[in-house]
Parts: sequence; C-alpha cells; structure tokens
Amino acid sequence: MEHDGGRRAELAANLVEVRGRIARACEAAGRPVDSVTLTAVTKTYPASDVVLLAGLGVTDVGENKDQEAAAKAAAVSAEGVRLRWHFVGQLQRNKAKSVIRYADVVESVDSERLAVALGRAAEDRETPLDVLIQISIDGDPARGGVVEDDLWRVSDTVTSSDGLRLAGVMAVAPLGWEADRAFERLAVLAGRLTARHPGATTVSAGMSGDLEAAVRHGATHVRIGTSLLGMRNSLR
Ligand SMILES: *Cc1c(COP(=O)(O)O)cnc(C)c1O
Repeated sequence: MEHDGGRRAELAANLVEVRGRIARACEAAGRPVDSVTLTAVTKTYPASDVVLLAGLGVTDVGENKDQEAAAKAAAVSAEGVRLRWHFVGQLQRNKAKSVIRYADVVESVDSERLAVALGRAAEDRETPLDVLIQISIDGDPARGGVVEDDLWRVSDTVTSSDGLRLAGVMAVAPLGWEADRAFERLAVLAGRLTARHPGATTVSAGMSGDLEAAVRHGATHVRIGTSLLGMRNSLR
C-alpha cells in the first residue's frame, strides 16, 4: 500500500537518524554501540507503526497506558510479530493483572504496594516479570518515582517476590534540571542499587531531547518517541 510505504520510509529515515545519534553518543562516551538498547515509545501511535518498526529491526517498544498497550500488543501479536514490551507509564495497582499479560518489563515501579501487586499478579508467569524501579531524581515524590530513602525498601520488596526480577532503574529528567546533572545523579543511585543487587544493571534514561546526556552517564536503554514516530497530538 502506498500510504504504508510512505510511513515505512518515514520511520526508516527517523530510525537511521536516532541510531546515528545513539552511535555518536556511545563513541563520544567510549562505549560500545551495542551497550545501548533503543526502546521505541509508540504511545498514541497505531499497531501498524509498531509492526513497521519491528520490520525495521526495532526489538523493544514502550507504552504508558494499560488499555492502549493491551490492545496494541494483541494486534501486533496477531500479526505474528514478537517484541519486548516495556510499560513505562504510571501504573495503578488494579491494572497489574492486565499489564503482566503482555508486558515483558515494567519500568515504572514506584512503590512497595505496586511491587507487591505486580508480584502477586506475576506469580503464575513462566518467566519472572522484569522490573525497573522508577527513581525520583529531584526527591519530589509528588512527581512519581521512588526517593532515595525508600529505594532499599522497594528494591527488597521486588527481590523477595518470585514473580519479579529486579532489572534496574528508570528515570525521567525532572523539569528544570539540566539533563547531565539529572543523569549523573541517577548514575550514582543506580550504582548503589547494583552494589546491593548485582543483577540490577539496567539504566533506562534518555528520551528524544536528552538521549546524548543519558548515554554519557551510563544509560543502557533510551526511550525514544517523538524523534522516531513524530510529534504526538496530546502532551503525554
Ligand atoms: C513518552 C515517554 C517517552 C518518550 O518521550 P519522547 O520525548 O517523545 O522521546 C519516554 N519515557 C516515558 C516515560 C514517556 O512517557
């Protein structure tokens, strides 16, 4: 179809651009290019875009709303396309059962109560659910994320659950913070977590506007929406 061909070409060009940015950031940081995984954040975009991205070699996708993600993951799976689905949005405990059906990773665990709910929901999974603890870099819990003082409590709750595997941390640079300062701070907290839980090596940080700074400070995963798929209509 001509329309899809146009969209495919657009996504392919954006992907070359984003992969180039990641490669240059890795080179500048003296890191191997394959040390950073690209997660395409496909929220608000259709399942057809996810299928096109998979065809272009994208392996990981991110979504931030359960209802949208569940439907999209089902549609993509019906096309026979297998991807790693990351849930990156704020998650209510009553959605835990739904999310664990399609998600491979939940990046936004920000409370003990959510960790417990996910652990219960994930008990019957064949493989444990990978979990990242969302960190509040500026220490303001109102904006989501775990503050430093609560990090051990939440991480120990995750590791005590058979259904969950603590994979690392995720963060968004706080508004008004310089990205380098934010991700430097994240790297310190990530290092402390890894010292206590050696398997928790994932650092998910960096979006379209600040992926270079995130790679500079050790991000293993960057979450890219706008630069890959285009501007979203709504602010989310
Ligand atoms: C939307 C979103 C992204 C992607 O942001 P862009 O600026 O569009 O690249 C990354 N992480 C989270 C948690 C998001 O909600």
